Amino acid sequence: MAKLHIVKLGDDVLRKTARPVEAITPRILTLLDDMLETMHDAGGVGLAAPQVGVLRRICVIEVEEGHPIELINPKIIAYSGEQEAEEGCLSIPNKWGITKRPMHVTVRAMNREGETFDITGSDLLARAFCHEIDHLDGKLFIDCMVEEIEE
Ligand code: ZN
Repeated sequence: MAKLHIVKLGDDVLRKTARPVEAITPRILTLLDDMLETMHDAGGVGLAAPQVGVLRRICVIEVEEGHPIELINPKIIAYSGEQEAEEGCLSIPNKWGITKRPMHVTVRAMNREGETFDITGSDLLARAFCHEIDHLDGKLFIDCMVEEIEE
């Protein structure tokens, strides 16, 4: 495994649309492993491939320690409710803000075995799903921030 460089706000790659993964290759599996290691090292709860300079529709999330979620070609297929909470991003250090997100989010994605699965999350996990999937379309939390939090 290898730790990857996390690109920061201002890098064009964060504003581009990532391409779907067509086949689970050894390269994709290595990328997933490296992204998890990079996220753990940075102390984040989510990381999307564009944040490490790879324009592929992949993200990793771990809001419950020891239970990483790997999402390949994720899509939000259902959502409900509403929440407003604090959000930050590993690509935008030292900036925090309040965003409005759904309270419950269901995502359909592929796992590293190439199987399709659905997963539903609430609260922080729902926010993480929205935040990371936004990254795959070049969107950042500062775009939907309703209020910035001063340090
Ligand atoms: Zn982010």
